Amino acid sequence: MRTAVALLCAGSAAVAFGCTAPADEPRDPPVQLPSVGFVLFDPELDGAQPVTTTVDPDHVSTTYEWAEHQGFTLSQQPDPGSDLCEALAARRMAGDSCTVTDGVMVTRMEEMSGVALVRGATLLFASGLVTEADAGLLDRATEALRAAPETTLDDLGDVRAGTAAPAEPVTAPVVPDDFEVATAMKAVRHLAGTIGPREATSPAYARAARWVGRQFDRLGYTVQRQRIAVPAGSSWGVPVDAGRSLNVVARPPGFEPEQPHLVVGAHLDTVPQAPGAEDNASGIGVMLAVAEATALRHTRLPVVFVAFGAEEPRSGTDPEQHHFGSRAYVRTLSPGERDAIRGMVSLDRVGVGARVPVGSADDTDPVQRQLLAAARHAGVPTTPDPDQRSSDHWSFVRTGLPGARLGSTPYVGYHSAQDVVSVVEPAQVERVGRLLLAWLAPR
Ligand SMILES: [Zn+2]
Repeated sequence: MRTAVALLCAGSAAVAFGCTAPADEPRDPPVQLPSVGFVLFDPELDGAQPVTTTVDPDHVSTTYEWAEHQGFTLSQQPDPGSDLCEALAARRMAGDSCTVTDGVMVTRMEEMSGVALVRGATLLFASGLVTEADAGLLDRATEALRAAPETTLDDLGDVRAGTAAPAEPVTAPVVPDDFEVATAMKAVRHLAGTIGPREATSPAYARAARWVGRQFDRLGYTVQRQRIAVPAGSSWGVPVDAGRSLNVVARPPGFEPEQPHLVVGAHLDTVPQAPGAEDNASGIGVMLAVAEATALRHTRLPVVFVAFGAEEPRSGTDPEQHHFGSRAYVRTLSPGERDAIRGMVSLDRVGVGARVPVGSADDTDPVQRQLLAAARHAGVPTTPDPDQRSSDHWSFVRTGLPGARLGSTPYVGYHSAQDVVSVVEPAQVERVGRLLLAWLAPR
């Protein structure tokens, strides 16, 4: 797969950006951008309405339904200030290669590409294009960006770099009633119904990871992707290639990694044959709804949320060939970050049954005891689940950190094409969400 990155130098932009190079100049000179301020990209593509717009000092991102269906994220960056390749590299948005051809910049990051161009004083950037799966994406993205209208600083109203404020101040402590089961079920429908099977190295997994990242982004979390190398093997009987997966890590604003905090995680991947509604869109859904509740409410400690890649086994016989994402997360912590983790909870298969399994590797784990106490407080029935090592909490516990798992009730559609949305029971999803919020609530 090839990639290139470029700038549009046409019309007034050509003058403004010094892009009037004659055709016989050396090809693809660096393009100097002036300070363009902060201009919102606000196109009407096929009449689609924006579904999210988020603002922080370095980044404006607007996602469109249309864009999502095409596999695009459209965003506009403020004040590149210099050569566009350099500017995007500085924001970790340019990858292995960055080239400018005919005013269009293309950058490649691993298996994904991005395309950028300038219209007037607006920089348009479509990122996360899985060009490995669809070589036509770059052309279609370029077309869409060329067709997008310009906007001006005045169109922005009160939205300015560095001045975005939470919709309401964080004043109240979180309570179990803050859990919105509709948020969780929306995630289950999108991941299992719309996207479907998400083997850890597949384009569908990358799409799911982008979607989850956007949900956290919209809630005001700082989102980071952690890449994971995973080996070839056999996943539940299906041969799988070696490749890359990723963790999506969401930290609250102002987070200090060496200060005491909690970690809540859920794996995002599935075995190749399963749409994975219960295993584990249910866990991701509960995590997103809890993140929504805690975005505007106090918790007893700051919470890091992680959607883990490659939890599912890649070998039928070797027990070490699984939990790749969570093991990478733990392995890359600094000693100070590691010491700061006061507890980890893995949400894994949390939408089946009438009692919530609360498991850990042994019955002295403090997180398991805390979860059982929180369940009593929230009025949620539980089942203790001893010797539980079959989820991402084990990656933490095996290195001496406290951790536990919610979920694991057996069901018929496990690891099969029958693991569909109707398997997930909203009432059980709500029990788990309420229990987890009770665990996070200030005492
Ligand atoms: Zn699972």
